[in-house]
Amino acid sequence: MIRPGFREWLAVGRLFLNGHLLRTDDAGLHLCGRFEAELAAFTGSSHALALSSGTAGLVCALQACGIGPGDEVLVPAYTWMATAGAVLLVGAVPVLVEIDQTLTMDVADLKAKLTDRTRAVIPVHMINRPCDMDGIMGVARSQGLRVIEDASQAVGVRYKGQMCGTMGDMGVFSFNQHKNMTSGEGGAVLTNDPGLHSRAVNAHDMGIGYRSQVPGGNTPIFVGNNYRISEIQGAILRVQLAKLRARIVKMQRRVVMLDRVLRAAGFPITPQNDPDGPLGLAVTFATEAEAMAFGRKRGVRRLFDNSKHTYTEWHPILERRMSHPGLDPWAWAAIAPDRLINDCPRTLDLLRRSCAVNLMTAAPLPVVQVMARRLAA
Ligand SMILES: *Cc1c(COP(=O)(O)O)cnc(C)c1O
Repeated sequence: MIRPGFREWLAVGRLFLNGHLLRTDDAGLHLCGRFEAELAAFTGSSHALALSSGTAGLVCALQACGIGPGDEVLVPAYTWMATAGAVLLVGAVPVLVEIDQTLTMDVADLKAKLTDRTRAVIPVHMINRPCDMDGIMGVARSQGLRVIEDASQAVGVRYKGQMCGTMGDMGVFSFNQHKNMTSGEGGAVLTNDPGLHSRAVNAHDMGIGYRSQVPGGNTPIFVGNNYRISEIQGAILRVQLAKLRARIVKMQRRVVMLDRVLRAAGFPITPQNDPDGPLGLAVTFATEAEAMAFGRKRGVRRLFDNSKHTYTEWHPILERRMSHPGLDPWAWAAIAPDRLINDCPRTLDLLRRSCAVNLMTAAPLPVVQVMARRLAA
């Protein structure tokens, strides 16, 4: 998280002098629109849509891609529940894919999980480390699948020079308090496809038919939702994005330094899909006991203990609980109750043996260096 400060306060203050907080208000400052243009430029994506959360972003991306009842969508077994939950909210069924030693979606298992109902895949760039996008895009293109990157935890992370969130058909960011940049709550959907952008805009705005400007003139419009953000979030996000470049450099320096110190001390650093891209660092031990011991140190957490990101903790999904008994994507897809959520034992084993190392961005680099040596001791 980039701590909001004076510049965010000033931007919101200016907005209050103007007084129009609704982004669609013609007399407003159009801060959300400006933020979207700046985010698109920053990521190298043709289009960006800001909305109320990463979860809303996933729902709108799935709706833009026309995913729905009867469809299967491949998601990794290690991610926040929203990745799989969004699939259910559009009436489709999530199918779990194992992670590999990089802690991101395993391409071989992705192939193994394909059925004739598979319509899309959502690779997730967890803890600021990119997926094997070449491998995933290769499978998706050969099978005609849509790819929606969940880059909620990887805003500003690169894979082979390209920003996470810009390589699939669509990409999703989260700007909640825990993510790289924040407006408390918030999210974005990126795409290079004007048609998908237009459908995502429709999906996020119930009142789209009454706007003076509708991107792509997506007619006829379908029933959307209201996941719009206000100009207050727009004001904050513009400042946060301006601060992000410096933040990325800061994170990179810490990753490089921590990697060097821990590697020199013989720690088994988790392999990366692009050694130059990541803004996060993990260690995968041979045994669970070693990971538990390391995970008790300050600035380290064992991934299995941060259990909300392990599929075995997604209780409403595991117990097939939707808001109404008739709203049952598994029944619509004619999926037998015994294969509602498939098991992923390799993922559990990797999470039990892996720890993420905190980059300690609040501390100056020399302090982090001392902490790193202490960790390595
Ligand atoms: C944070 C997160 C989300 C959801 O973001 P919200 O803005 O909290 O809705 C989705 N996927 C992953 C992997 C996340 O970490």
